Amino acid sequence: MIARRLAETRARVDAAARAAGRDPSTVALLAVSKTHPASAIREAYAAGQRDFGESYAQELRDKAEELVDLGDLRWHFIGHLQTNKAKYVARVAHAVHSVDDGDLARELAKRVASQGRAPLRVLVEVNAGIEAQKAGVSAEALPELLAAVRGLPQLELRGLMTMPPFGDLAVARRVFDRLAALRERLGGAAALPELSMGMSDDLEVAVAAGSTIVRVGTAIFGARE
Ligand SMILES: *Cc1c(COP(=O)(O)O)cnc(C)c1O
Repeated sequence: MIARRLAETRARVDAAARAAGRDPSTVALLAVSKTHPASAIREAYAAGQRDFGESYAQELRDKAEELVDLGDLRWHFIGHLQTNKAKYVARVAHAVHSVDDGDLARELAKRVASQGRAPLRVLVEVNAGIEAQKAGVSAEALPELLAAVRGLPQLELRGLMTMPPFGDLAVARRVFDRLAALRERLGGAAALPELSMGMSDDLEVAVAAGSTIVRVGTAIFGARE
């Protein structure tokens, strides 16, 4: 079941890339497994999926422990992260997509240093300026936060992430286009290679706007409780 939905989702991403004149291999699929059990992750892993997204720090910590035998699985943290929970994430994450302030960036860097691990990949979450959107740093404050992240050798700045308000594809398209335009203004793909945008309902629109990582939960794992 999960293997089939995973294949269907990958096919959607590939078709969207081709329709946009892009090489499908330039768009990564992140399987968002939050609230789903470790057994569902094993199923997706058995079908070849390696990148998984989680939104809650303790849930990530517990699942990483439970699935520690899957040595090449990569965890991506995509949810709002409180500074006091950064330690759980810094220990196991391959990447954090939701860095939205300097204090969090500094805390993650401190934890990476104290754990002696390799630099942590980070993306900065942006509020691309549409009213109903709450999470993320504003476009105005973005350059300063990027500079702060670049000043921390324990973090490797990979790009930008955004999440439009739910349920309106026209709004989603505007948000994705704004993120892509912001990236162009701030050095383009050479400076910020990744654009993490697009979910189950709007991944085609996101790929058309230039997404390099789509974060898909429901279409792969089914509805969350
Ligand atoms: C839950 C979540 C997703 C996945 O959403 P679906 O609609 O289930 O595909 C993607 N990104 C973030 C930040 C999420 O919290």
